[in-house]
Amino acid sequence: MATQYTTCPGCATQNPGINVRCTNCGTVLPVSPMPMQHVPRPGTGKPAGADKKLAAGICGILLGGLGIHKFILGYNQEGIIMIAIYVLAIVVAMITCGIGAPLIFVPTIIGIIEGIIYLTKSDEEFVQTYVINKKPWF
Ligand SMILES: [Zn+2]
Repeated sequence: MATQYTTCPGCATQNPGINVRCTNCGTVLPVSPMPMQHVPRPGTGKPAGADKKLAAGICGILLGGLGIHKFILGYNQEGIIMIAIYVLAIVVAMITCGIGAPLIFVPTIIGIIEGIIYLTKSDEEFVQTYVINKKPWF
């Protein structure tokens, strides 16, 4: 049983399967040892894709209407849709002599809301929602 290890639920340290308590933090270990595996330790390293969170969030808030944050996340189709809405809103505003101008704020507001949603999520949630599940809107 020398190759059996138990991962500590408290600090993710891998302990020999015969241990009853974690050698690192003293947490009582679960009874069934598992084969040794790589477990990301809390606080060390970010999940892949988490680096996009800040960039996408800030671009969403500042440049929301242009859909830049969509392109950062790899959502090219949604980014193009946002630019199209933005351009369309400008055209409508011109045709209607400014009456349709508030439409320009629609993609801008979507971008701001999405940027705030990105920034308020944890790195893990962000990656799960937007990198793995590819949730297109909000
Ligand atoms: Zn521990």
